[in-house]
Amino acid sequence: MTLHDTYDSDNIFAKILRGEMPAVKVYEDDTALAFMDVFPQAEGHTLVIPKDVEARNLLEMPPEKLGPYMLAVQKVAKAVEAALKPDGLVVTQFNGAPAGQTVYHLHFHIIPRTEGQALGRHGSGGMADMGELEKLAARIRAAV
Ligand code: AMP
Repeated sequence: MTLHDTYDSDNIFAKILRGEMPAVKVYEDDTALAFMDVFPQAEGHTLVIPKDVEARNLLEMPPEKLGPYMLAVQKVAKAVEAALKPDGLVVTQFNGAPAGQTVYHLHFHIIPRTEGQALGRHGSGGMADMGELEKLAARIRAAV
């Protein structure tokens, strides 16, 4: 999947937005939805996606929608920090398969980091325990 291609409305995040796929949600407003990554690179790995856009990546995001979306990204990052008290936070985003993107609906990753602990590899971790994800999500939700 290159940087320039058509948006596939059947991508997994579009299905989550339409309620056709489950997600462990932590935050939702008019412009964004945040939920737990099911293949986390670290405990608390959270994704924030924009609603009502067909943007596969950052370059395709309508500029007028970018500001409100980034506010939601910051809000969720602050909640992850407040809830889990990590030593650091990675906030990142990939554009196109050669850059590491695997799901083609714009999303930011919020990944807590612990001093001295290696970051799990992107796209190659095991599936999280759903009960554990629910517990983490409850803590983050309470901190939003
Ligand atoms: P990227 O590789 O940057 O496109 O990120 C896609 C992310 O979505 C990866 O970190 C995956 O672990 C995650 N992911 C894939 N499917 C799901 C899903 N059904 N629910 C939550 N996260 C998912």
